[in-house]
Amino acid sequence: MFSRELSIRTTRRTEMIDVTTQVSDAIRESGMDEGLCVVYVPHTTAGIMINEGADPAVARDIADRLEALVPWSAGYAHLEGNAAAHIKSCMVGSSVTVAVREGRMALGTWQSIFFCEFDGPRSRRLQVHLIEG
Ligand code: ZN
Repeated sequence: MFSRELSIRTTRRTEMIDVTTQVSDAIRESGMDEGLCVVYVPHTTAGIMINEGADPAVARDIADRLEALVPWSAGYAHLEGNAAAHIKSCMVGSSVTVAVREGRMALGTWQSIFFCEFDGPRSRRLQVHLIEG
């Protein structure tokens, strides 16, 4: 298995960052032609999602709606004060899997991969694991 760790510097508390190009670059560097690409976020207050990248307003709408559903302050038990970020991380998920065909991710025309920051700004890591087959 080929693995690569990408570094991401986020600049706001909530931020959706299109990482499709970085993931594609990692696949190209690996030389893998056919297989699976697993993109994994090793954090409890961030996530990863696949959604529309053509119109940046879509990712903004998703972030805004998550904020409305899970407000920052709402009498949570978690003493660190970032319970909302943990909850949003659960809702979005910690990994996505995309098939790789002929060296390229088999994403739909409008799809992009977004790193979802919910408790920034921070330095974050993003793992790309490639399983050939
Ligand atoms: Zn916490």
